[in-house]
Order: sequence, then structure tokens, then C-alpha cells
Amino acid sequence: MTDFRAIRIDKDNDGQHADYVIMRERDLMEGDVDVDVAFSAINYKDGLAVTGKGPVVRRFPMIPGVDLAGRVTRSAHPEFAAGDIVVATACGLGEAHYGGFAEKARLSGDWLAKLPPALTPARAMAVGTAGLTAMFCVLALERHGARPEDGLAVVTGATGGVGSFAVALLAKAGWRVAAVTGHASEDAYLKRLGASEIIGRDELSAPGKPLQKQRFAVGVDTVGGVTLANLLAQTRFDGAVAACGNVAGMELPATVAPFILRGVSLLGVESVRPRIGLRRAAWARIARDLDSSAIDAMSEIISFDAALDRARSIVGGKIRGRVVIDMGLHLPL
Ligand code: NDP
Repeated sequence: MTDFRAIRIDKDNDGQHADYVIMRERDLMEGDVDVDVAFSAINYKDGLAVTGKGPVVRRFPMIPGVDLAGRVTRSAHPEFAAGDIVVATACGLGEAHYGGFAEKARLSGDWLAKLPPALTPARAMAVGTAGLTAMFCVLALERHGARPEDGLAVVTGATGGVGSFAVALLAKAGWRVAAVTGHASEDAYLKRLGASEIIGRDELSAPGKPLQKQRFAVGVDTVGGVTLANLLAQTRFDGAVAACGNVAGMELPATVAPFILRGVSLLGVESVRPRIGLRRAAWARIARDLDSSAIDAMSEIISFDAALDRARSIVGGKIRGRVVIDMGLHLPL
């Protein structure tokens, strides 16, 4: 029986706490595929899970980590065999099923995708749930019929994981992109990703009128709250906002005016359910649109030892782009 290192969240009478532990393979949950985890990554949800600041974890104990990439060591699933390099994002990992902050994972093959040839496991984790969610947002706007010639696109929480990918993917698709950020010092970073203008977070965070000057053709919102209400109020006729996040809150203090007077659409985006067809399409589009230097510009790699502290810090907005965790398995970068 092989031991492995993990970060585990336990709950007792004093509340929940996360720490590094040694676990045994027999402690793993049910699944038809075993994976040696080579890389994971830190998402906002992982920060909420390890700090207990949001009701993310649905059973205890839990190994957090919404994303993982690694090598299959055992498979009873028809699509995978030992030696395959695979990636899994969301699908309840780190919430209801043990996730990626561990050297080993056992999970359903229905949640796995083989890596597109253009992506290494490390770069797949730089993309991870955040990048896939950004891609889902862009695909939702495209399904709505939006085109770059319609006008300006806006992305909130732009220096974050989802935001960084949304800026890069929209710019790559030909949009002029306004990046909304609370980090004025990150202008150069956002412009390197493809932003054409920078908007200070404060400009959109105070309550405003139900209908405001029309500025944006489309938006990707990771923030929620008053910011999303203002985005809707500033969206042009027949425009759309893809909403995927809530870093500023779950509420939406908006009116129906943008919907009924300007035909604005609010497109909900979630990336938790498996929907493997959509995932494969999104991975293929990311591999096509973003070269390795673009992905590397949005990410840094840290050791597993540093992962718990960094996961705690994401909730305070202290992470730029994506933080990839190297589990030390030594698969190619
Ligand atoms: P990050 O922490 O990487 O990014 C969030 C960014 O939001 C920060 O970098 C910061 O960017 C900005 N921000 C932070 N606090 C505030 C605040 N109080 N008000 C306004 N802006 C703020 O998180 P992720 O990119 O991983 O996730 C973003 C959101 O998307 C989260 O709410 C997450 O839960 C959600 N999400 C949803 C998914 C889904 O399936 N729907 C999947 C993945 C993520 P800046 O300084 O540039 O403003």
C-alpha cells in the first residue's frame, strides 16, 4: 500500500482546518481511474475551501484542488489506459470528491480528458478551471452572436485567473478589450495579455443608475454584485454579459431596465458539470488560440510545500494570473 502526501481539510468541534498529511491509497474515494498527480493549480474556490470562507466543501475530510493533471496508473475506463497523460477540472473535485492537492487521485474517467498535444501538463494546469471558464464565457458570447466589430469588450477581475484568460482569449478573437482591475500597477501585464484599455475597479463598484451611458458590446464578469449591475447598465443595445464569478458578492442589485429597454442578455456560465463534449471543444480552442508563451505569461509555478499558504492568499485578491503547483513527479514541463 503506497503512502502519499496531501493537503486535507478536516472538521471538528473547533471548526475546519487544512494541513499537510500523509494518506494511504486505500483512503482514496471511489473511481475507475487512478492518477499520479504531476501538477495542480490554485483557484479562488480552493482558497474558499482551505480558509472556510465559503461553503465549498460538501463532505469532510476533503482534499481540496479543483484541477489536476497527471499520468494514469490504473484504469477500468474504456477511454483511458496506464501511461495516458490526462487532465481533470471541476466536476466536484475538491468539493464532493478528493481533488488535486495530493500526489495521488482516484476519480471517474468521465471527468478526464487526454491532453491536447500542444499542451504540457503544467500548461494545462496554468489553464485549468479558470482558463476553461474564460473560454466557456467567450463561447457563450459567440453563441449569442456577438462579433468583435460590435464594439468594446470588458473583463472584470482582469488580473485574476479567469480574468487574465478572458482578456487574452477575447483579444486573440479580435476584440478590443477593456480590463477592469483594482491593481493599477498591473497595466503593463494586462496590456501584454491584449487589453487595449484599463479601467479602475472603483469606476464600476459604486451603485449607479439602472441605465447608464452605453460603453460595452460584451462583457465577462468574474465579480458579481454592484459591478455586474453597472456592467449591465453600461452594455449597448443587444449586447451580452457572461457572468461566471462572485468575488464581490452573490447578490445582483440590478433592475430589469437593461433587459427590457436595451435587449441586453445576461449569460450564466458554470464550469462544474462534466459536459465532456464542451470541455474538449474548449481545450482544443485554447490550444489553438493561446501559444505557450501566452500561457506562461499568465502563470507561475510553485512547489507543493508552498501551495497551502498561496491557496489561503487567493481569497484576499493577492494572486495574479494562475499559480500552478508542481507536485514533483517530473513529467515534462
Ligand atoms: P482570482 O482570485 O484569481 O481572481 C479574482 C480577481 O477579482 C482578483 O484577481 C481581482 O482582480 C478581482 N477582485 C478581487 N476581489 C475583488 C472585489 N472585492 N471586488 C472586485 N474585484 C475583486 O479568482 P478566479 O479567477 O479563480 O475566479 C474568479 C471568480 O470566478 C470567482 O468568484 C470564482 O469562484 C469564479 N469561478 C466560477 C466558475 C464557474 O463555474 N462559474 C469557475 C471558476 C471560477 P483585479 O485586481 O484585477 O480587479
